[in-house]
Amino acid sequence: MKNFMAANWKMNKTIAETREFLRDIIPSVKEVTDVDIVIAPPFTALSAAGDAIGTTNIQLAAQDIFWEEKGAYTGEVAPAMLLDAGCKHVIVGHSERRQYFHEDDTVVNRKAGAAQKAGLGVIFCVGESLAERESGKTFDIIRREVEKGLEGIDAGNLVVAYEPIWAIGTGKTASPEQAQEVHAFIRDILRKRYGETAEDIRILYGGSVTPENVKSLMACQDVNGGLVGGASLKPDSFAKLVCYKKEK
Ligand code: PEP
Repeated sequence: MKNFMAANWKMNKTIAETREFLRDIIPSVKEVTDVDIVIAPPFTALSAAGDAIGTTNIQLAAQDIFWEEKGAYTGEVAPAMLLDAGCKHVIVGHSERRQYFHEDDTVVNRKAGAAQKAGLGVIFCVGESLAERESGKTFDIIRREVEKGLEGIDAGNLVVAYEPIWAIGTGKTASPEQAQEVHAFIRDILRKRYGETAEDIRILYGGSVTPENVKSLMACQDVNGGLVGGASLKPDSFAKLVCYKKEK
């Protein structure tokens, strides 16, 4: 299975900074053929990023989507607009969207459905908070988020990201054992839903991934890539994550 390494820039980088990042990273990753390399800039930089990426081996993702096709939805961005800007994927269900913008499983599911219908790949995020982990609810939360969020969603072009909220932006990474345990659990839910196709769904780990810990996380059987925030903002650091097989 081809690994998948995605940069989630969140609310960072202007158009000029996006161009600079791509100018710097393209030469260092251009020979990579065994990893899908994905960057998710903010909406304002998507089109410029799409132009800068051109026909290179980097793919573009959006950080959010709305499910309606057009109309009176001030501030929202439609699936066709993301395609128009050059996007191939979209992140849905990120914990920051769930937490700060009150997106529940129904909203996440509608967004995933609209993205798939438009032909966009879905990077579908799930994860438990520290309080949920400490009270032994991790697997209940993950099961609910996966089952409800993926209702009616096809396996094709679907990538799932396990992002424990306590590990996002905190410098506290899940151990490879903790990650593998949840990834295997997610794979099992996917098997029940999609049968054999579940073996081909990439399950990414996200949460303080760095060039120092990437190799041990990627060595886990059911970890098929990463969704990276902080360490994806610098071209040399993200290039190291993409080329993690060469890291010590
Ligand atoms: C993320 O927000 O998707 C993320 C994993 O962030 P970080 O790598 O900074 O923890």
